[in-house]
Amino acid sequence: MDSYVELYRAANAIEAHAVKGFLEQQGILVRMLGEALGGGAGELPMESQEVRLLVERCHQARALELLKRYQQEMAPWQCAACGEQNDGHFELCWRCGAEPEA
Ligand SMILES: [Zn+2]
Repeated sequence: MDSYVELYRAANAIEAHAVKGFLEQQGILVRMLGEALGGGAGELPMESQEVRLLVERCHQARALELLKRYQQEMAPWQCAACGEQNDGHFELCWRCGAEPEA
């Protein structure tokens, strides 16, 4: 085994790929473990689609920090102008074009 440590458990492969893509944009290599990915069968519980994301130990602290930021960015926000609920990746309210309040 090498020096990879578990960073995060994604609920499914879609979330796992999104997080992996985000971290790799920041230069952090991510490995995924999970039933949907093949490999590791027999050592992983098969009852869920949970995907584990692993990063190198030396990147763990930075990856956790980035992950926190990613989750904040992806958190839905409510438009103060019109009250519409927006997905976290919208920079402006999709309905009225207002900026989110800081
Ligand atoms: Zn709005």
